[in-house]
Amino acid sequence: MSDEYENFLTHLDCGLTGERHERQIVHGLSKAGKPLLARYDLTVIKNTVDRDQLWARNGGFWKWRELLPVRHSKNVCALGEVDTPLIALNNLHKNSTVIVKDEGRLPTGSFKARGLALAVAMAKELGLTHLAMPTNGNAGSALSAYANRIGLQTTVVCPDDTPSINIEETALQGARVLKANGLINACGAWVKAGADKGLWFDLSTLKEPYRIEGKKTMGLELAAQLDWALPDVIFYPTGGGTGLIGMWKAFYELIELGWLARNDLPRMVAVQASGCAPIVRAWDAGERFATPWEDAHTFAAGIRVPAAVGDFLILDAVRQSGGFAIAVDDEAIENARQSVARKEGLLLCPEGAATYGAYLAARKNGQVSADERVVLFNCATGLKYPMPDAGEALDLANPAY
Ligand SMILES: *Cc1c(COP(=O)(O)O)cnc(C)c1O
Repeated sequence: MSDEYENFLTHLDCGLTGERHERQIVHGLSKAGKPLLARYDLTVIKNTVDRDQLWARNGGFWKWRELLPVRHSKNVCALGEVDTPLIALNNLHKNSTVIVKDEGRLPTGSFKARGLALAVAMAKELGLTHLAMPTNGNAGSALSAYANRIGLQTTVVCPDDTPSINIEETALQGARVLKANGLINACGAWVKAGADKGLWFDLSTLKEPYRIEGKKTMGLELAAQLDWALPDVIFYPTGGGTGLIGMWKAFYELIELGWLARNDLPRMVAVQASGCAPIVRAWDAGERFATPWEDAHTFAAGIRVPAAVGDFLILDAVRQSGGFAIAVDDEAIENARQSVARKEGLLLCPEGAATYGAYLAARKNGQVSADERVVLFNCATGLKYPMPDAGEALDLANPAY
């Protein structure tokens, strides 16, 4: 059939126990209550797919289809996805290579497009009709855009202080949006209760297996853009951690495929805000699982995630990579945003700015050196976020210069 892709998904493994789960049926968490990881027949892909031909395709992250779970092209919803650019901070760092991967260029203005596009395609493929999730903003917008375009119903619930632009864009693209008087984890409990009643499918971060497959394309794309090599260090703004876990998975898949020029993996750095840093606290204590953060606060809403179901996968990846977890306060985030905007012409989102703040802190304390090639993830366009008041009044009747 012409609309069928070659598909190499074999099964899914529990991220904690490794227990095998079958493909082609609807999955939430594993039987052990942990995230599921999609597995592919990488040997067949290695023998049949040409790396450079794949990379030469158009279509942004959809080009990686042999490494993705979708079987039928009719379930793919395309909104003009692009390979996001790498932009070096040449003015701020003349003697170091510090590169921003600017994910704000994707549809809906954030890297949530990657995860939700895949989750929505698989939901459609598996016959689901109503998707719901908690969000701090960008995930809801991406879900709303992709799901409504392909004809699925969506319900999104967010903390009532979520940036208003996120609430409005999500509603305008067709979702029912509820503003709740609680943080994202409380919103998540409400979504789960509705799913248990049979009202909808729960598409929460890592509570279904395919968002991570979308986010993994950041790692595939980055490797290809760097001519099939990886940087020394990656700074990732970590909320639920989907992107960090996904990239780490992608790098292993690339190694197994023999597509990486060299096998030295980057050190992965989980960046959080000091007002909500459960992963950093667990890292500092040497724990494998994180305890929920109380009274979470930071203006970087995308990383205001008090508890992550994939905590151990984030911490495992950071540990295996020889990386670390680091927190930065809101003042450092704001300073980072302003200096990159002024000197480099890039409007980072606060979460992206946090990665730059973390880089500066890591340089200062010696965790990263000047000669290391570093990639920072800017997860969303800065245009979606409140900015400091600006502009001076000019009275044209009494002009002064
Ligand atoms: C979702 C989000 C994050 C966190 O991403 P995870 O992969 O879930 O950790 C960071 N920044 C922004 C802007 C986001 O929307």
